[in-house]
Amino acid sequence: MRPKILVIEDNEQNLYLTTFILEKHGYEVIQAREGGEGTRLAGQVEPDLILLDIQLPEMDGYAVAQALRSNPALDGVPIVAVTSYAMVGDRERILAAGCTGYIEKPINPDTFVAQVEEHLLDCTSGRGGEA
Ligand code: MN
Repeated sequence: MRPKILVIEDNEQNLYLTTFILEKHGYEVIQAREGGEGTRLAGQVEPDLILLDIQLPEMDGYAVAQALRSNPALDGVPIVAVTSYAMVGDRERILAAGCTGYIEKPINPDTFVAQVEEHLLDCTSGRGGEA
C-alpha cells in the first residue's frame, strides 16, 4: 500500500504543486482546504503523515495541530507544518502546538520529498529519541 499523506493547504497553487510532487514519488495524497475538513479527514483516512499549512482560513494551523493532537488515533502520526514564517518564535509555537517539525515555504521541488521523508522515517523507526 502506498503511504498516505494528508495535505491541509488553502492555496490552490501550493496544493497542486505539493500533490504533484508527492504523487510523482509514489505517495497517495488526500487534500483538505481548511482545518475542519482536514481534522475530519485525518480521523477517517489515518494518514502516515500530515502536511499542515499554518496560514489557513477559519482555524489557523496552530489550532488545527492542536485539534489533530487531541485525537488519540493520530498519536504516532507526524504533523509537519509548512510555513513561510521563519522566525524563531513561530518555530517554537509550531512545535508547542503539536507539530513534529516544519518545512519552509516556498517549497523547493528538488528537496521537498527528502524533507518530508525525514519526518516519516523519524516516526517509523521508533520514537525513542523524542524528548
Ligand atoms: Mn495558506
